[in-house]
Amino acid sequence: MRPIPYGRQDISQKDIDAVVEVLRSDWLTQGPAIERFEDSLTTYCGVKHAIAVNSATAALHLSCIALGLGRGDRLWTVPNTFVASANCGLYCGAEVDFVDIDSRTYNMDPEALRAKLILARQAGTLPKVVVPVHFAGQSCDMAAIRALSREFGFSVIEDASHAVGARYQGRPVGNCQYSDLAVFSFHPVKIVTTGEGGVVLTNDDRLAEFARMLRSHGITRNPTQMEGKPPGGWYYEQHALGYNYRMTDMQAALGASQMYRLDAFIGRRRELVARYDRLLTGLRLILPYQDPVAESSWHLYVIQTRSSKDGRAEVFCRMREAGILVNVHYIPVHMQPYYRRLGFAEGQFPVAESYYASAISLPLFPTLTEQQQDHVVGTLRAVL
Ligand SMILES: *Cc1c(COP(=O)(O)O)cnc(C)c1O
Repeated sequence: MRPIPYGRQDISQKDIDAVVEVLRSDWLTQGPAIERFEDSLTTYCGVKHAIAVNSATAALHLSCIALGLGRGDRLWTVPNTFVASANCGLYCGAEVDFVDIDSRTYNMDPEALRAKLILARQAGTLPKVVVPVHFAGQSCDMAAIRALSREFGFSVIEDASHAVGARYQGRPVGNCQYSDLAVFSFHPVKIVTTGEGGVVLTNDDRLAEFARMLRSHGITRNPTQMEGKPPGGWYYEQHALGYNYRMTDMQAALGASQMYRLDAFIGRRRELVARYDRLLTGLRLILPYQDPVAESSWHLYVIQTRSSKDGRAEVFCRMREAGILVNVHYIPVHMQPYYRRLGFAEGQFPVAESYYASAISLPLFPTLTEQQQDHVVGTLRAVL
């Protein structure tokens, strides 16, 4: 049997045709396919603006700049995430800190957030931006986080990299009902892919306009936005220090084509999850908990081992030896050497650390077959 990865893309002939069509057209970068892809995202999510960029990391960075995050400001996120959710704060010269997670959902714990905010208010160190991460595709408790954002005066960027196609309170994640901005990732292990890619979503016209300008060097070609009188059709103005974070039209065409398949992808992930739940019941494992107000997009299926000390390393090793490429999400960001050098230490976020010590992500992707899944379950059963 070929090794089974923990995640992988599903590219159809239609997806390929969409990319090839762009290659034969006049536009290779940021052309008509970008607009189509952005429209498919705003329509799906029920949000006003979508700004496609070349990664979710870029989307997080632009979101932070658009909110005015800078030196002397603070950004808080969770330790249980990919490093990009925290790095975006450092890019802007802000200080980064973390809020511990809930032991059931593995998402930002609103109670831990409230407790930390109360202390920060006393110390005069309130954050400007908080970045909740919808871990594994399950939405955070956004109503609670939004209530705190109003009470303590911070902005919210949802890192929804895992949560394309997920729902919260019956509505699509990415609609920004409880946030200022949200970002998706289109990396190949995520729910839909553009190879590399990301998007900024927002209902705020001003933030959208700023993010759009920053995506392309901080330059505008729109005569109504110019400070000087345009001397001719060649004229453009740079208004801010932006970047080249543009997505190519090939990528956007792939993304737009994949968006037609999003609901099918999620449906298949749900079937596989239901099967894992059924087949793994009764083993010495903690299976994923689902919050009744959130419908996960199931980017990841994470189990926790319950055996004594370092049972996880053993399980991980034996699964890998059997050709099952399990993974671990995530090494708490504050335990990374780079963050330790900034002053963080083990023991600061005990829930995220204890979760990390026993977590394993099992293979989950739309083209995973039941036969492969049976092999994963059988191997896990034997190892335990
Ligand atoms: C994948 C991921 C990112 C970064 O996405 P890229 O598109 O690879 O830049 C950020 N945050 C989280 C939670 C992710 O899983």
